[in-house]
Amino acid sequence: MDPETNLLGWSNRIDVQTGRIDKFGEGNYSERVLIVYSGIHYDALALAPTSDSPAEFDQTRFLTTDDDILTAARAIADSLRKSHKYTDVANFTLRCEQCKTGLKGEKDAHNHAAATGHTRFVEYQ
Ligand SMILES: [Zn+2]
Repeated sequence: MDPETNLLGWSNRIDVQTGRIDKFGEGNYSERVLIVYSGIHYDALALAPTSDSPAEFDQTRFLTTDDDILTAARAIADSLRKSHKYTDVANFTLRCEQCKTGLKGEKDAHNHAAATGHTRFVEYQ
């Protein structure tokens, strides 16, 4: 299990690229946290009472019996996928900012960093 999701107790992770929903820590929890995973970043899904309400009023814990929120989360993941708001870590294209070498995927970037000591990469399409 990922250490980041491990901290959250009961959570559902929605993978934007595939639309898959993974459950973590299933058991004796009455509430869950929904995590949207873009390939690199995790973002907790928050429900705001109104579009301009301050962040402290955001709801990030949802009853495990509330399946409507899962449906909503899936719809959000779908729209993110359609607008390409995810990173395919095996196939994304990167450029090393230090020597301008084009690289493909996380593995290439790791190898390049190990071989050259370069650490600044930018993603491009
Ligand atoms: Zn380089």
